[in-house]
Amino acid sequence: MSQDYYELLGVNKNSSAAEIKKAYRKLAVKYHPDKNPGDKSAEDKFKEISQAYEVLSDQKKKTQYDQYGHDAFTRSGRGGAGGGGGFHDPFDIFSQVFGGGGGGGGGGGGSIFEDLFGGGGQRSRNGARDGADLRYDLEIEFEDAVYGADKKINIPKMVSCKKCSGKGSEPGSGMKTCHQCGGAGQVSLGGGFFNIRQTCPGCQGTGQVIEKPCRDCHGEGRVRSEKNLQIHIPPGVDTGSRLRVSNEGESGTRGGRTGDLYIFIHVKSHEIFQREGNDIICEIPIDYPTAALGGVIEVPTVSGKTKMKIPDGTQSGTVLRLKGKGIPSLRGGPRGNQLVRVFVEVPKHLSREQRTALTEFSATLDKGKNHPLLSRFLKKAQRFMSGD
Ligand SMILES: [Zn+2]
Ligand SMILES: [Zn+2]
Repeated sequence: MSQDYYELLGVNKNSSAAEIKKAYRKLAVKYHPDKNPGDKSAEDKFKEISQAYEVLSDQKKKTQYDQYGHDAFTRSGRGGAGGGGGFHDPFDIFSQVFGGGGGGGGGGGGSIFEDLFGGGGQRSRNGARDGADLRYDLEIEFEDAVYGADKKINIPKMVSCKKCSGKGSEPGSGMKTCHQCGGAGQVSLGGGFFNIRQTCPGCQGTGQVIEKPCRDCHGEGRVRSEKNLQIHIPPGVDTGSRLRVSNEGESGTRGGRTGDLYIFIHVKSHEIFQREGNDIICEIPIDYPTAALGGVIEVPTVSGKTKMKIPDGTQSGTVLRLKGKGIPSLRGGPRGNQLVRVFVEVPKHLSREQRTALTEFSATLDKGKNHPLLSRFLKKAQRFMSGD
């Protein structure tokens, strides 16, 4: 994990947020665990690019990264350059989705890397090791973000070994005294005047080792497996929202706690709708007569077709609002609106008759009355050119 984040994503410091996002998504699709089942190197790569994106997509973290450099950022540990953020951000909607039980979330000032990809978490005095938190990137349709959805996902992860119940020892066998430390849990380094004691690497300080390692998990207490989960996506999520599922990360060993699963939402772009906060933006071309005479047009919305009145004299670029046709608020506020930006499509490929009709029509136009913008502009331009 020592490669520069920009290099990892194939971008540079001057790349725009959109370029970084594009580069990340391309790589994420390529190395996604679902596409590379059982491929450890792809999985590692996926974690690395996810970490890189985690930092480079966050303006604050990116600035710190640029300032302090890669090594400082990844090695500074808890409370370092990457600290402070943890999972407490406006997108952590865990409590709304899964209802309480989460307490403080990511646990204060921990670096996000350790929280998410800790590679096994903390080892305590009794040798227990907490399971790592897992990240899953889930791409959903635009409509799913509007209405919410239930999704089935497969999570490849380490789960507690059934055969030995996570203990790591062959059923029926027990523990024996560690021969490296004679059961003390600590070993001496050097010796003589400076006697430095260190936690025994053979038993991680417990003084006991497994007599006969479990044959299913080779003494690890965990096995690689896949878990099917049904996930509820609440209405109103957006790209960047993350859902936390308690206790669905990797299993701990020897009684260590199970990690959590974080689902990072990516909403696919839509053919005709764009999103701005909880509003939906839609651009609709209208014909010239409708713009001039006014009329009623049919407008697609996420909740079906609706009719919208176009006032006479509507200009290109005018934004009309359909109240309450936007996206529900994730936090229980009012639903957003649909904003329809109309633009006038000038007719093309006119027939001879149409040209004649339009020429005749044009001759009837009164600049001052029919084209106030044009006549105002002409006056200003004239003033400017004559130097007054
Ligand atoms: Zn086992
Ligand atoms: Zn030992």
